[in-house]
Amino acid sequence: MSSLKNGSLPAPTKRSQFSCHFFFHNTDAAMLEPDAVNKHLFCVQLFDHVAECLGDFMEKQKIKDKKLPVGFTFSFPCAQTKLDEAVLLTWTKKFRASGVEGMDVVKLLNKAIKKRGDYQADIMAVVNDTVGTMMTCGFDDQRCETNPATHLLSEELRHIDLVEGDEGRMCINTEWGAFGDDGSLEDLRTEFDREIDRGSMNPGKQLFEKMVSGQYMGELVRLILVKMAKEGLLFEGRITPELLTRGKIETKHVSAIEKSKEGLKKCMEILTRLGVEPSDEDCLAVQHVCTIVSFRSANLISATLGAILCRLKDNKGVARLRTTVGIDGSLYKMHPQYARRLHKTVRRLVPDSDVRFLLSESGSGKGAAMVTAVAYRLTEQARQIQQTLAEFRLNTSQLLEVKKRMKVEIERGLRKETHKEATVKMLPTFVRRTPDGTENGDFLALDLGGTNFRVLLVKIRSGKKRSVEMHNKIYAIPIEVMQGTGEELFDHIVHCISDFLDYMGMKSARLPLGFTFSFPCHQTSLDAGILVNWTKGFKATDCEGEDVVELLREAIKRKEEFELDVVAIVNDTVGTMMTCAYEEPTCEVGLIAGTGSNACYMEEMKNIETVPGTEGRMCVNMEWGAFGDNGCLDDIRTKYDQAVDENSLNEGKQRYEKMCSGMYLGEIVRQILIDLTKRGFLFRGQISETLKTRGIFETKFLSQIESDRLALLQVRAILQQLGLDSTCDDSIIVKEVCGTVSRRAAQICGAGMAAVVDKIRENRGLDHLDVTVGVDGTLYKLHPHFSRIFLQTVKELAPKCDVNFLLSEDGSGKGAALITAVGCRQRELDAQNQ
Ligand code: ADP
Ligand code: MG
Repeated sequence: MSSLKNGSLPAPTKRSQFSCHFFFHNTDAAMLEPDAVNKHLFCVQLFDHVAECLGDFMEKQKIKDKKLPVGFTFSFPCAQTKLDEAVLLTWTKKFRASGVEGMDVVKLLNKAIKKRGDYQADIMAVVNDTVGTMMTCGFDDQRCETNPATHLLSEELRHIDLVEGDEGRMCINTEWGAFGDDGSLEDLRTEFDREIDRGSMNPGKQLFEKMVSGQYMGELVRLILVKMAKEGLLFEGRITPELLTRGKIETKHVSAIEKSKEGLKKCMEILTRLGVEPSDEDCLAVQHVCTIVSFRSANLISATLGAILCRLKDNKGVARLRTTVGIDGSLYKMHPQYARRLHKTVRRLVPDSDVRFLLSESGSGKGAAMVTAVAYRLTEQARQIQQTLAEFRLNTSQLLEVKKRMKVEIERGLRKETHKEATVKMLPTFVRRTPDGTENGDFLALDLGGTNFRVLLVKIRSGKKRSVEMHNKIYAIPIEVMQGTGEELFDHIVHCISDFLDYMGMKSARLPLGFTFSFPCHQTSLDAGILVNWTKGFKATDCEGEDVVELLREAIKRKEEFELDVVAIVNDTVGTMMTCAYEEPTCEVGLIAGTGSNACYMEEMKNIETVPGTEGRMCVNMEWGAFGDNGCLDDIRTKYDQAVDENSLNEGKQRYEKMCSGMYLGEIVRQILIDLTKRGFLFRGQISETLKTRGIFETKFLSQIESDRLALLQVRAILQQLGLDSTCDDSIIVKEVCGTVSRRAAQICGAGMAAVVDKIRENRGLDHLDVTVGVDGTLYKLHPHFSRIFLQTVKELAPKCDVNFLLSEDGSGKGAALITAVGCRQRELDAQNQ
């Protein structure tokens, strides 16, 4: 543990020295007193005993004071849902301790260790000995995927129902010893197999294992010899008590007898010890029997292994399978012919393959240590990733703080003496009321400031059959125009209007026009707006500080093709509010969560100190995107937010917007991914050119990646599309990063909205406010989680308000027309009054 203090990861070899592994299967059962095992021992005693053994071991190694990660080789069939949890399905081999089946052995062992209290251990991985073997071999040969002598396979995950997720590969312990327990091997089982099964501790179970494993091989030979002797085919019919004794012929004997050179001599010795006085012919026959039994074992193993390899081949969809099989087990290691026969048969059964067989050295122990080491590294890695993302996870009190600070900035924007240096500008819009349904007429609308520039014709009809009919055309604004001169920009806009009027056949109509211009503007009337500064992707020269309505009028004049009456300049938030208010009179707030982030609401005139008059209300364009530009959000901004800011067109500006709007979310994600990759947690530590490319991570990809319906494989496909070659683990991490970034965005946006609705409530001296917010923006509309988290946050942070959210349909177009209609009528009224 100490080596991890500075956050760096020790090298793999070093780590495995720190982990301590634990043998716990039959061949190593010597660690447990045999009696204790064979007796029907109780679960508690068993695990106490294991904990004691581990304690002794640590004592001997003088590591009792350290808290080491422990890998637990537990070679019994277990259901594993994660690395450090294993529910024993059933005991096999000689184990019987009661009360363990159906229990999580990690919990049991942890409990036993805790009870002792004399040392600490962290069980990080439960490993089957076969898996251990694969890991050991896998360390030397990365293609190692299977292990027959015990029984293991790594397989494409999508074929396994029990494990969640539909792809990626996971090591599967097939526990193929139980193959045949459903009767599927009945035609192959002999009377000898049945007899062995009947005499075993677990009749009817592990039938395949009983046909192939070393544990039963000697017994099989002995039973055959007994039968042959009984029938007078061997030993002149002599049957001795030794020959009749279970266990008198062991697998090592079978191995010895099958040795080509001294095999017959050994056979003579062994049989003589059984007291049967064999002839040379008997010895030959017995050798033959041994060969048949061990050959059958090798063949059966080959067949099952062949099936697994074929499946691997299918799963991978390759014409030729190249793989390595990790093998452990003394039958394979010690028997003179077994390995050769096995290799030969497997290759014959899976012809289109290059299969390598790799002997594992102490697979159980070393493998457990390695699984543990890997788990340890992953855990440490996961911890560091979580630590990185933790900065983005804001708790309620932090969010309440954001809300409080927004309130402060709102006040500063409204007050005369603080307005100048205020960051949240609270710009008056001269929209004094929401529509009442009496609006009527044909209007032109422009929508500039979003993803698309549009020109619209909006026909509003009042009366019983209220209706709004819209025609629109989308025009591109080339980036060189967006960032060229102001004159070029406005000439381009007028050119588009001209095209639209031609298209509609109404060049001569001189329609009233509403100009949705979604940038901060100082308005002195409905039709005058001085651009404070460009935001989002715009940067045209000679516009900041100018009245954009004037710039438009001048451009129309330059064109000399048509005349228009520019009645209103409209922020998109206001257009959105008006559109929704047309349907729902309680709508008094507008919100945009699209490329940018902004809101407006109906404020009391008496609070808007920058506009004369105290009667009634006026809609205020908050320009809340600039919230934080005075540093008031610095404590929650991360270094990734700073990097995004530094890379932007308007460094230091729109800090809140840069944390929560569509234009920037993908960039935040990209910055985090770059950092995680640098630290070696992603994309194999390789920062690709793609990842270095600004803007590749569009917010629509966040939406796709975060979609609940998308499987990891599809996430990987998306990343692939972006040119990012990811592993399964990478895609999980990327998805979490995206989710964390968009969640924070929705939350801080919600905190801002909570401040707004509470302000309205307090303005009116109410204990409870019912209010509707009109919302527009693709982030809000299409992201799979943004709106839900946003709503939750508003609800939690403004509990005294019942906020209803209404999606606006084309707020920028329809809203501009409605405002223009209201403006036209106001103008008529004013004219009448004069
Ligand atoms: P604008 O705000 O530019 O008027 P929109 O409301 O349509 O226009 O927002 C466009 C922005 O929405 C894009 O810049 C992008 O950041 C984001 N966006 C686009 N597609 C999606 C999507 N599928 N999910 C979430 N956000 C998206
Ligand atoms: Mg828009």
